Amino acid sequence: MGAIPPVADGAKSYRITRDRAGRWHVAFAVVPAPIAGPGTGAAVGVDRGVVVSAALSTGELLTALALRDSEKARLLRLQRKLARAQRGSNRRGKVKTAIARLKARETDRRKDWVEKTSTRLAREFDVIAVENLKIANMTRSAKGTAEVPGRGVRRKAGLNRGILANGWDQLVTRLEQKAPGRMVKVDPRFTSQRCSACGVVDREAPESQAVFRCRSCGFAANADVNAALNIRFAAGHAVAARGGPPLGEPANREPQRDHLPVW
Ligand SMILES: [Zn+2]
Repeated sequence: MGAIPPVADGAKSYRITRDRAGRWHVAFAVVPAPIAGPGTGAAVGVDRGVVVSAALSTGELLTALALRDSEKARLLRLQRKLARAQRGSNRRGKVKTAIARLKARETDRRKDWVEKTSTRLAREFDVIAVENLKIANMTRSAKGTAEVPGRGVRRKAGLNRGILANGWDQLVTRLEQKAPGRMVKVDPRFTSQRCSACGVVDREAPESQAVFRCRSCGFAANADVNAALNIRFAAGHAVAARGGPPLGEPANREPQRDHLPVW
């Protein structure tokens, strides 16, 4: 048995679990300490992506590291092996453990991504805007609703799987803890259908999961980045409505920033 690491301050309870890979875990329920923002009023819109894990209104696309291609191939081979292995056999047990190890590795990487990304966003931006998930769940069923019909819904179809894979809920939870009072949750309606450059809502503009092309002004962008820009825009309205100051410029100036609309 190795040395027992010090317990973080603020740990009030713990849970002992054994994962599918046979590893024992002691998880302390620790709420991370708030992180100070830059104090410049810098705001960012963050869209849960379909193709990527998260898209920022700065144009940056963030992807949580999942399994590498070689690891995915190995997982597939193992799953085929498992299907062929006899029930209750030794071999089957070994294959199951190997599969569980790969899945545990994927979970670890996602958690690491969530921690690093939430820390970075909390440090670089004073206002972090995301879609309001409660409304999103109502309006973004795969079947669609009267309010959000058409491509915007199709673009997000099957998203539940993606959210799980990308750790979106974990990311939002961590952001709320690391940037308390600096999160803005906006109405998700039309964030994928609205052109962030001219403001026209066009159901046909999201051409695919990756491409948004406005037929009114010709603005074209990654569909998730366009949505992130709309989320940032909506957050500006929300902050102004509360009597807050106008949102500052993004802290990170990306080269393509010149081609993006400035609010
Ligand atoms: Zn437009």
